[in-house]
Amino acid sequence: MTSTPQSASALASLRKARLLAIVAVSPEHRVACQSPGCGHGVYAAIHIVEDAGQLLVMGSTCFAKHYGGALALGMPAYSAGGGNGRMLTEAERLALVHNTAALLAAFKAEHDQAMAEANARLKQASERRAQRMPFRLPAPPPRAPTPTHPWPWQHSTNNSVAVVRSPEGQAWIRVQHSNGSQRLVPWPAFEGWEYALPPSCGAPDHEVKALAVPNIVTAMLGLRMIGFTQPEVSRWPDVLRLVPPAATKALA
Ligand SMILES: [Zn+2]
Repeated sequence: MTSTPQSASALASLRKARLLAIVAVSPEHRVACQSPGCGHGVYAAIHIVEDAGQLLVMGSTCFAKHYGGALALGMPAYSAGGGNGRMLTEAERLALVHNTAALLAAFKAEHDQAMAEANARLKQASERRAQRMPFRLPAPPPRAPTPTHPWPWQHSTNNSVAVVRSPEGQAWIRVQHSNGSQRLVPWPAFEGWEYALPPSCGAPDHEVKALAVPNIVTAMLGLRMIGFTQPEVSRWPDVLRLVPPAATKALA
């Protein structure tokens, strides 16, 4: 054993000792330092130590001397509570003098609660970060339901359509029938649609509420000559960008 008896005792103390809190009181309420052989009045940076099962109140100088440095025992165990060096309230000061264990129990409760709250904040922050991660898909925005396909009789593969408009703004949609022929659908449907276009455009097909067009090229040319617009080609449901979707209701 090469170490001096003094440092051996300091090492033994280090193994058993815990710095629980650092507190302060006003100078007129100074308390006696309990470091062996001291007894001086101390008021700032009062160290409360648990040493070999005993609670000791010490001045910072005696603490450093006894344990081998101001930071020898690390941070106070209740540093997140009342043991963080702050000035004690009058009630706390009385507890320090008369019931140090009760004061420390209160500090421990404060500390534990502060730590739990800090942990909860950290967890919330990390959850918020996780929610912002690009790999987590955001909830899809609410979408208006796509209107039902209005032409159950439409050709399954030749499904392009074309919109033309009369000079008055009435739209007609060219739709290919599953039997290969073309139809001109009034959009929206209106009373008298059967006779609204020149007879060369076709005859009414009441089953599908559209004109059955014998020759679509001739019909389109004829419509152009009486002021109809150029056909705009589209398909369902994109065509709803050219004509109002509400029209599906009118057809239903
Ligand atoms: Zn002392």
